[in-house]
Amino acid sequence: MRIDELALRHYRNYEELHLTFDDRVNVIIGENAQGKTNLMEAIYVLAFSKSHRTPRDKELIKWDEEYAKIKGAVHKRNRRLPMEIVVSKKGKKAKLNHLEQKRLSDYIGALNVVMFAPEDLNLVKGNPQVRRRFIDMEIGQIQPTYIYHLGQYQKVLKQRNSLLKDMQRNRHAQPDRTMLHILTEQLVEHAAVITSKRFTFMQLLRNWATPIHEGISRGLERLEIGYQATADVSEDMDLSKMIEVYTNKFQDIENKEIERGTSLSGPHRDDLVLYVNGKDVQTYGSQGQQRTTALSLKLAEIELIKSEVGEYPILLLDDVLSELDDHRQSHLLHTIQGKVQTFVSTTSVDGIEHETLKQADLFYVTEGK
Ligand code: ATP
Ligand code: MG
Repeated sequence: MRIDELALRHYRNYEELHLTFDDRVNVIIGENAQGKTNLMEAIYVLAFSKSHRTPRDKELIKWDEEYAKIKGAVHKRNRRLPMEIVVSKKGKKAKLNHLEQKRLSDYIGALNVVMFAPEDLNLVKGNPQVRRRFIDMEIGQIQPTYIYHLGQYQKVLKQRNSLLKDMQRNRHAQPDRTMLHILTEQLVEHAAVITSKRFTFMQLLRNWATPIHEGISRGLERLEIGYQATADVSEDMDLSKMIEVYTNKFQDIENKEIERGTSLSGPHRDDLVLYVNGKDVQTYGSQGQQRTTALSLKLAEIELIKSEVGEYPILLLDDVLSELDDHRQSHLLHTIQGKVQTFVSTTSVDGIEHETLKQADLFYVTEGK
């Protein structure tokens, strides 16, 4: 798939912008703080209805304006698909084919995007939240029902946590636990679905990431990906078995949860563990190994989306080429060559020799123009 046109209004530092893109590589060139990331972010928001940089939609609206609008003409399965996101102070509207989509799970997934930015190194180094977000975004864009379950899970989790807080405060009064059990039952149902979808995703991710990593490291490194769950769930379990395991787990930790005033098990506490040659790369990996691992995961994502959705996603490379050494840079550019529509941002094209970039369309940005 590709994006042929993009129009912005009142988006970040862009007053008004209309661009048409090359179907292969587009290079966005500009000094610092001119609007390169903003442009990449706009494509990301068009796909996910959310920024990768901020949870607060309002920040996307140009200062002193009332709303921000992003329109894109996406080309998918040989058809033109108009997409639109409008963020205003009152809320957000998403349109697909000119029709408003009330549920975001009906919108997300229409446009598949993989973004690779310097902060993606945090995928390896950062806290578990970063890795959970990675898993959730990736499954979500392949399987919109996942977003539904995740949303429901978070809703119940919030209620359950606030109940547990109350019970923590009143724990000496021996409060009735009926409500807690009702919420636990609901939580467990979504937890099981989410976990089983994550397991399926992990298998696919491994299948792609391990050989890719081997390629980048010239056969020297073997990447393994594990899933660290907070309950004794495993990949071979069916849904009802998982529900049983979670139910027992919550029974076991009930007193502890009341004591702590929060939910202590479930997908919101799980993590991804990455090993290179048998060692946890978060703890023991060198900077370069962590970089290679992050790159392998991103490249795996591209192939995974292709295999699941049938078309390659759009790739956004924000400021990362300069972060990679020549070998990794050319491995990356070689992989995407000719098959993935790519947006690359950089402060300068000097010194970039690769063939892929020589044939690209160049866009120069200054002060949001
Ligand atoms: P760098 O090379 O440093 O990464 P960049 O070209 O990627 O720079 P952007 O992150 O796109 O820069 O930001 C460009 C400018 O947009 C910033 O100077 C910022 O002040 C401005 N900006 C951010 N949000 C808004 C907004 N809501 N309204 C107006 N301007 C904004
Ligand atoms: Mg930037």
